[in-house]
Amino acid sequence: MKYILVTGGVISGVGKGVIASSFGTILKCSNIHVTSIKIDPYINIDAGTFSPYEHGEVYVLDDGGEVDLDLGNYERFLDITLHRDNNITTGKIYQHVISKERRGDFLGKTVQVVPHITDAIQEWVEKVANQPVTEDGTKPQVCIVELGGTIGDIEGMPFVEAFRQFQFRVKKENFVCAHVSMVPQVLCIHDLPSIYRVPILMQSQGILEFFNDRLQLNIPMPPPRKFMYKWKDLAERADTLCKDVTIALVGKYTKLEDSYASVTKALQHAALAAGLRLKIKYIEAANLEDVTRSADPVSYHEAWQQFCKSDGVIVPGGFGKRGVDGKIEACKWCRETKKPFLGICLGLQTAVIEFSRNVLNLTGANTTEIDPDAEHAIVIDMPEYNPGMMGSTMRLGKRTTVFAYDNSVLKQLYGNKERIEERHRHRYEVNPKYVPQLEVAGMKFVGRDEENIRMEILELDDHPYFVATQYHPEYLSRPLKPSPPFFGLILASVGKLHSYLARGCRLTPRQLSDVESDDEIPETVMKDNIVISNEMLTEGKSKSVGSSS
Ligand code: GLN
Repeated sequence: MKYILVTGGVISGVGKGVIASSFGTILKCSNIHVTSIKIDPYINIDAGTFSPYEHGEVYVLDDGGEVDLDLGNYERFLDITLHRDNNITTGKIYQHVISKERRGDFLGKTVQVVPHITDAIQEWVEKVANQPVTEDGTKPQVCIVELGGTIGDIEGMPFVEAFRQFQFRVKKENFVCAHVSMVPQVLCIHDLPSIYRVPILMQSQGILEFFNDRLQLNIPMPPPRKFMYKWKDLAERADTLCKDVTIALVGKYTKLEDSYASVTKALQHAALAAGLRLKIKYIEAANLEDVTRSADPVSYHEAWQQFCKSDGVIVPGGFGKRGVDGKIEACKWCRETKKPFLGICLGLQTAVIEFSRNVLNLTGANTTEIDPDAEHAIVIDMPEYNPGMMGSTMRLGKRTTVFAYDNSVLKQLYGNKERIEERHRHRYEVNPKYVPQLEVAGMKFVGRDEENIRMEILELDDHPYFVATQYHPEYLSRPLKPSPPFFGLILASVGKLHSYLARGCRLTPRQLSDVESDDEIPETVMKDNIVISNEMLTEGKSKSVGSSS
């Protein structure tokens, strides 16, 4: 026996019965024997007590059954003779289950909607479907079941659940569902090259007119050509990018890309504004750590290879010990080889620790987050934010940064504002005690909080772009308003930062793509002993570290 279930959506009276009868007619014309069941989820046992005003005519069957008028349609369309059991109501099912309960059929058990009512529905449907409905007594092959009312009606729920189970009981090849629904309004949003095209496609289908009318917004309708032109331009640009920029994201949760959702979006906004196709290489920080301590030399080689080949590097925020040494390695490499670098929060802290260890020769430099008794506590607790509890006790949210140096790259990128506001989320900070030494050696804290205690932005002298922020600039990046530190990283990665700054930060994306890369674009430097080709990488599995270069 094959079953076709016809359900309704949104409102009743949209023609479920006609659809179901038409299915039957087509099958009957193909010489299939068809029967039908009509389910009415009301509590009446049958239609005998209805006023015609309530539900229309009461239809009478051969066996004297007083049933819903839909059964009349099935009999006429399919030229069959139905029985009173071909009309199921909630009342009938409950009557049946309750009389079984009184007889003691469920002795000792609690009788419930699931499974007792839902089982009774399935058994009833299977039994009735197999009954002959023609004079020659042939067993039907297909049963069309029409479920009255609409999906979502409270009284229809047990039937919906029963058929959900039924599809597994009779198997997939014997069950199909047709949902007949009113569809009052529809927007068709097909797959698009970028998400920026979605609002544009919606608008082209009249969504603004719809909202204006339905919500009585009284918006004057804009001239279509000018409307959303910035978005159209952005979408156009996103579809026609031809040059790549590759950024290595050195993180700790790289297996789950959503861990860095705002950072990757901020990179995307910045790359688009520069007219570049963004490629992010997610690099597990721990894989950059000293290979003698790494269990897997192949991961180490692969990580360093990807890292060295990228145009720029971002070390995002993070917590705890794991991966910190790898992030410090990343900072060191970017500082020494002049690779464009953006550190965020923990990324700033690791840059300061690295500089203290390797430039100031403070070998015991560390953050108290990792080593509470560090010989040189370069990054320290903020006691006022750290009462020993973890939840919600950090320095959080929007705070002001004041620029302390006029020649700062970030100050220029932020439009030469004296002060900016960005969002924070940290428990530790740069120890102000070490700031004078760090600055003398070339690490400048160009942005600070209003009290001049908290170091908010650092920049390295004599480097094309070595920038780190204690705040998280990614949170305030917008598709049409990229975050300045990210934009700086992207421009520096393709050697266009200086041209951009020299023109007062006023180049449009189109003008930017016409600008030649300036001389400062750093050469790709490969780390010693890092295998270069992919084939060698695969072979590298059996090789010890340093056996090839
Ligand atoms: N763990 C560091 C701190 O709490 C950095 C936090 C971060 O990167 N969000 O200060």
